[in-house]
Amino acid sequence: MGLEDEGALVLFSGGQDSTVCLAWALQRFRAVETIGFSYGQRHAVELEVRPAIRTALCELNAGWAVALGDDHVVDLAALGQISETALTRETAIEMQDSGLPSTFVPGRNLIFLTFAAALACRRGIRHLVAGMCETDFSGYPDCRDDSIKAMQVALTLGMDRRFVVHTPLMWIDKAATFALAQEIGGDSLVNAIVERTHSCYLGDRSRRHPWGYGCGECPACQLRAAGFWRWQERCNNGHEKA
Ligand code: ZN
Repeated sequence: MGLEDEGALVLFSGGQDSTVCLAWALQRFRAVETIGFSYGQRHAVELEVRPAIRTALCELNAGWAVALGDDHVVDLAALGQISETALTRETAIEMQDSGLPSTFVPGRNLIFLTFAAALACRRGIRHLVAGMCETDFSGYPDCRDDSIKAMQVALTLGMDRRFVVHTPLMWIDKAATFALAQEIGGDSLVNAIVERTHSCYLGDRSRRHPWGYGCGECPACQLRAAGFWRWQERCNNGHEKA
């Protein structure tokens, strides 16, 4: 059975990376569902932009509109209660003594994947798609390829069912993520990503930059902006299709 006959569940936060992953999955799988998590994140606005992104992708491509199925939002308030981090509390976003940024929510992606797999089990889906990335990552250990591969094995054993965790962005940087979006859906997908997705940790959507909305200062904004400009530069140099 090829991927075109199978279903996939995409971990879809409403950010740039997970939106590119969603488009990537829609291009490959017969049926695609999405899952998002509410855990008291300061940038809860990312949850609010999710329906508009799903609608925008359906408008871009008739095939995607057919493939896109249910959206699931899971309440993980307990995660916000047990973690004392800059993503869930009004504290400064900074580097800590541990060498990890204060935005790191310990085990977040492991918990997300576990809940996604549990839902996928119920829905008869074995492919999970997630936007973790080891290249431009903020130093989050649960974004590492080895962490994800270990999770794939743990989920497969622990639920006695074969799971495949796809991470199409694992080895590419933010600039290449923009290029991948262009390759999958052309300018209209890039425009939808810039206009509708949310990355800013502070939840700021009052300022519009060429790369999208955000405060422009937090690590998520800086990463997104740097990736956008690097991609533009590569386009101008002819390294990527403009
Ligand atoms: Zn920001």
